[in-house]
Amino acid sequence: MGRNGSFHIAIDDVTCVQCAGCVSICPTEALHMQGLTLECHDPTCIGCDLCVRFCPVVALSLHALSAPPVRAEA
Ligand code: SF4
Ligand code: SF4
Repeated sequence: MGRNGSFHIAIDDVTCVQCAGCVSICPTEALHMQGLTLECHDPTCIGCDLCVRFCPVVALSLHALSAPPVRAEA
């Protein structure tokens, strides 16, 4: 499991059937329905992969974002 802000959830709007199951299963409430459209607030996602494994139509995919470079102390 990773840090907040390290992940992006890609949503296939064509495949998604708006069942909202992923919204219910997300432990950090990163996913929500905006009307009939599923949206993800990526900074809240911790990369647990639960939503990806839960989705019955495989509409979600999890992507790790590259971490910002750590600046060395001068
Ligand atoms: S990977 Fe985990 S934290 Fe991120 S949106 Fe899916 S269920 Fe929520
Ligand atoms: S579980 Fe899958 S089909 Fe259901 S709302 Fe989430 S992405 Fe859409």
